[in-house]
Amino acid sequence: MNESYVFSILKLKIRNFAGRDKQSSSVTHMENNSAKLLIVEDHHEMLQVMSKYLKEQGFKVVGAESGEAALEKFSEFVPDIVLMDIMLPGMSGIEATRKIRRINDIDSYIPILMITAKNEVEDVVTGLESGADDYIVKPFNFQELVARINSAIRIKKLNDMLRSQSRELEHANEQISGLNESLISKNKELRKKIFDLHNLFDISWELHSILDIHRLINSTLLTLVGQFSCRSAMFIYNYERAEHTLTVVNSKGLFKSDIEDIRIAKSDPLVEYLFKKHRPMVMEDIPAEYHDSKCYQQLSKVPVALISPVIVNQREIALLCLGVRVKNKAYDVNEMEILSTINNIVSIAISNAALYEEVTQLSYTDGLTGLHNYRYFEMRLKEEVVRYKRNEQNVSLIILDVDYFKNYNDTLGHQAGDEVLRDLGKILRQTVRENDIAARYGGEEFAVVLPGIGPKGVRILAERIRKNIEEYYFPNEEVQPSGKVTVSIGIATLPMDADSVTDLIHKADTALYKAKNQGRNRVVTYSEITD
Ligand code: GH3
Ligand code: MG
Ligand code: MG
Repeated sequence: MNESYVFSILKLKIRNFAGRDKQSSSVTHMENNSAKLLIVEDHHEMLQVMSKYLKEQGFKVVGAESGEAALEKFSEFVPDIVLMDIMLPGMSGIEATRKIRRINDIDSYIPILMITAKNEVEDVVTGLESGADDYIVKPFNFQELVARINSAIRIKKLNDMLRSQSRELEHANEQISGLNESLISKNKELRKKIFDLHNLFDISWELHSILDIHRLINSTLLTLVGQFSCRSAMFIYNYERAEHTLTVVNSKGLFKSDIEDIRIAKSDPLVEYLFKKHRPMVMEDIPAEYHDSKCYQQLSKVPVALISPVIVNQREIALLCLGVRVKNKAYDVNEMEILSTINNIVSIAISNAALYEEVTQLSYTDGLTGLHNYRYFEMRLKEEVVRYKRNEQNVSLIILDVDYFKNYNDTLGHQAGDEVLRDLGKILRQTVRENDIAARYGGEEFAVVLPGIGPKGVRILAERIRKNIEEYYFPNEEVQPSGKVTVSIGIATLPMDADSVTDLIHKADTALYKAKNQGRNRVVTYSEITD
């Protein structure tokens, strides 16, 4: 069988098939979707015949008559499918297939359909191994060729779809791994937040349990220094509400000389600004218009890195100041938030402590005279006796009672009597020393506890009290038997007269009784009593 014979047969077949295929060409066309074919065939005539037929089927066709030409056309034309003759002059079809596979990028898969003669069937295996996808044996039926091409195109489409889906998957995977990373970092952030919240809860718990305002401020400063690793901290406040100036009431990590002169007016523009802002601020963020204020000037000298205004009872202000941090670390947003929360906790805790102090004060104060009441007197006397035993110091007790007070009351009325008691309270307050505890002991009886004072000292003080009262003019005191309001005083001292609280009170009372018996308006010391 010679070649010209094969071709004449082929031509005949093509003519026959062309006629038949015309009816189904529209279908094929649609299916092919104008696929681009590269036909590699060294037989010029064969190439022409195939090209013509396949063009009629709707394909876009480009031909190449050698392996080298095939590679060139492949890059230029970018076909959807390659029909590759195995036997080519120069570069073989197998070699060309291998090279095409190497340059075929991964975005789109291009099937290669090998065309082989019957006696080249062994080469088919090598061809398939080199990257070809299918083969067709010459002489072939053109319908079969088109069917093979269409099947290769379907495979290509599926392949391309798979690749694009795989790319989408990869993309989705990247997004998931990105999301995962951000989840991990969010998780870390949340864990840190939970840790901070636990910390805040502990701080809040601790601070709210402290009702002594001095201890509370001390604890607050220690907590802040620990929490933020700052080198110093101070609390600027005034326990007396009526006072217009704030001073440093407690500090950590600062010399006394750095802070003792700090005086900040409540009316300072910066204080008022901070009061309005009601949030912690680093010194650098304080607007320039406040840099001239005395408050700013004094705090910059210390130096202070951050000021946090603590608002107590919605009207009082205290300044919580923190110094620079270890390694000069800046305060980040999170830390400022935490500080703000601690600030609020401290505000409430101080309000509570101040209220507690106020209530405690009230419950220990006598409403009429402003002196301490019996409860306070008893508590403090017990404390002082315990301290005496530890320090081996004297504790003296004075008890005084108004002479013929019933007479004054009966003659001038109860209200006038109350005025006398009020004046007596004033005289007592003015006469005793700061450490002495003056209290209204009962109706018209008063007591003074004198820690660290022995028999001599107490006698002098008692005499002074008696004399000051005698010399004071009480309204209408002429009605009294002696023409004056006077008091009798009894004294006892630990340890010489008594060894316990009850005993001390009893002995002072005994001395007072003696003073009354001896004619009133006098001082009697228990140790003087002879009978
Ligand atoms: P003396 O102590 O010198 O023996 O005579 P006295 O008249 O003062 O007697 P006593 O110490 O028993 O005094 C009790 C009187 O004190 C009764 C009451 O009229 C008066 N008194 C007690 N508590 C108050 C008070 O809170 N207000 C007023 N106005 N008078 C009081
Ligand atoms: Mg009395
Ligand atoms: Mg009396």
